[in-house]
Amino acid sequence: MQFLVTGGAGFIGSALANQLIREGHSVRVIDDLSAGDPGRLLPEVNFTRGDVCDKPKLWRLLHQVDCVYHLAARVSVPESILYPREYNATNVGGTVALMEAMRDAGVQRVILASSGAIYGEQPRQPVTENMSPNPTSPYAVSKLASEHYVNIINALWGIESVCLRIFNVYGPGQAIPPVHAPVIPQFLRQALGGGSLVVYGDGTQTRDFVYIDDVIRALIAAATAPGVNRQIINVGSGQETSVNQLVETIERVVGRSVQVLYVHAQSGGVSRLVADITRARQLLNYAPRVDLATGLQLLLENDPQFVALRRRR
Ligand code: NAD
Repeated sequence: MQFLVTGGAGFIGSALANQLIREGHSVRVIDDLSAGDPGRLLPEVNFTRGDVCDKPKLWRLLHQVDCVYHLAARVSVPESILYPREYNATNVGGTVALMEAMRDAGVQRVILASSGAIYGEQPRQPVTENMSPNPTSPYAVSKLASEHYVNIINALWGIESVCLRIFNVYGPGQAIPPVHAPVIPQFLRQALGGGSLVVYGDGTQTRDFVYIDDVIRALIAAATAPGVNRQIINVGSGQETSVNQLVETIERVVGRSVQVLYVHAQSGGVSRLVADITRARQLLNYAPRVDLATGLQLLLENDPQFVALRRRR
């Protein structure tokens, strides 16, 4: 098949594009490199630097594409609280521009990388797809709006869509930006470097940490599985892990105890979040294979920045 991956030079997008190539598909990528790195891509991937809101560029890239993976987005919850307009422009505006360009080019299917963040605080866990979303940040609002756009455009223009609500992904290749870094690579770097781990709140808040390879399997299945049109599907590990449990697992994997600093909780977070993955099991034949301890070990062994840090110890 011929795929276009928007945001394909990012953490998830590059792993997806490379796996699609390994499976024999043709892959184009558009990424503005605001956070991505084209050096992560296999040479067979056809990379174009560009903005996902640039329709003329999209028209060219969409020529004879069978399916689009829409991953281009700004991705930080705390940053979105500071810059909601930018999050709206890229995440919502980018989705609408892409859908218009797909209509113009006659492309039939889009898979949206949505987020478990749209659930916000819920009365019950694990969260199922039929619960009312309760977003607590502009990032989550932008993902929910994107879901609504692809679903309504599906109904109006007949473009098939699948919305995958992805939970907290980790794995090799995830960047550690200087601010608002994702928790797992940040903690690992601090643990390996001998520094303290900074926990926001008391560490009892829970998340669903899912290894990148499991997410890629779900994304690839969504392109061809029957009966997924118009579906919203959770993609997580199905395991609830508190931040304190994450710290303990990191201590075990790294082989040393760490000092933890507890600081005031940030806004935009939720107290508990874990995915019910029944629908993914049924529709995508999805079964997560990598538990947290194994995934952290794989991350330490396969991510060049951690390999280098371990050598220095
Ligand atoms: P990432 O930041 O590594 O990837 C996003 C990519 O989009 C980057 O390469 C960035 O350069 C690109 N981009 C940003 N604005 C763009 C624009 N205007 N035009 C073109 N490209 C643009 O983040 P990621 O973790 O790989 O996330 C990929 C997708 O998955 C995002 O849509 C994110 O919301 C979603 N998601 C990620 C997680 C997670 O835990 N990582 C969880 C749920 C959903």
